[in-house]
Amino acid sequence: MSAPLLGCIEAGGTKFVLGVARGPDSVLRTGRIPTTTPDETIAAAIAFFADAAEAEGPFDAIGIASFGPVELDRTAPGWGHITQTPKAHWSGADIAGPFARAFACPIGFDTDVNGAILAEFLWGAAKGCDVATYVTIGTGIGGGLLIDGRPVHGARHPEMGHFLPRRHPDDTEFAGCCPFHGDCLEGLASGPAIMARWGASLSDLPADHPGHAIIAGYLAQLVIAQRALLSPRRIILGGGVMGTPGLIDRVRAQAEQLGGGYFEGADIDRLVVAPGLGDQAGLLGALALAQGAG
Ligand code: ZN
Repeated sequence: MSAPLLGCIEAGGTKFVLGVARGPDSVLRTGRIPTTTPDETIAAAIAFFADAAEAEGPFDAIGIASFGPVELDRTAPGWGHITQTPKAHWSGADIAGPFARAFACPIGFDTDVNGAILAEFLWGAAKGCDVATYVTIGTGIGGGLLIDGRPVHGARHPEMGHFLPRRHPDDTEFAGCCPFHGDCLEGLASGPAIMARWGASLSDLPADHPGHAIIAGYLAQLVIAQRALLSPRRIILGGGVMGTPGLIDRVRAQAEQLGGGYFEGADIDRLVVAPGLGDQAGLLGALALAQGAG
């Protein structure tokens, strides 16, 4: 008897990454679809999985790791939907329902970053960590939190990108670009916030540009906040902005400095790390959610 057939969906704001797998080491096919309208995007994803089911047989479960915000309460009528988002067409969009109806199988559904921290816990950089976080710094900033092997939901789900840092002394002019808060972390340190200030991505700024220290300083404040509030054993920093050479070392150094020697018990180089699963964390997150569905 072969392992269960699992459908995996990393539902992102710019693209949906799809996979069909029987386990993390047995990915049978992958695909990607640009994110346009919900109807068009979901129909294309269903066509991809229907084609796979014809070749491989029926799905045992489908996992969806979605951009947010999303409704995660399984008892709520809006479970599996996007809630309110500035992204055109997607407020209130039902993500999980169409797949449940099309394939009549259990659906695992969570945020993309909760999926990513679950995958990193199972197979990557957070193995053996009872408390761990995964933060992606890119077009937006989002964070997933895992406690005792389970992604945390609570009243909604963590929204780490909307944490309010104190302003860097060399960054007082820019108002920030979050439509809700202005200068929350996402408003100050996401890719669009970097572009709005300096007209280039962080990796394209010269090595001696002050932007490097400013962005590292904000991300270091997130590290301090997490240490103060959550006591994580691992903080995984991923996403496009973290591809900037030297950034993770700057974040570690500033976190040590801002911490003032108070937070003992974890080597900063082991606490703050890059994703162990690289670019695969998102799709493997969806796989982990499919495995846990039912
Ligand atoms: Zn915000």
